[in-house]
Amino acid sequence: MKKCFNCDKNGKNMYGYSICDSCRSKLRLFTKDTIKKYSENPENFPKEIQRRLDFLDKNYIKKRIKLLHIQE
Ligand SMILES: [Zn+2]
Repeated sequence: MKKCFNCDKNGKNMYGYSICDSCRSKLRLFTKDTIKKYSENPENFPKEIQRRLDFLDKNYIKKRIKLLHIQE
């Protein structure tokens, strides 16, 4: 078994990456029901993706400010 890409636990292959159960659950992957719901209501899907992209941007800026503050 290969080590998880994110920690030292044993991982399982997922799309070419080795990931442990703990890190996998923290990804909060969409459930089959959620994916089904989105495919039945395609207009909601772009909104959700945009919400996630906004979150990513804000999170990136927060972490960057923190590191720049340390560097200063
Ligand atoms: Zn892990």
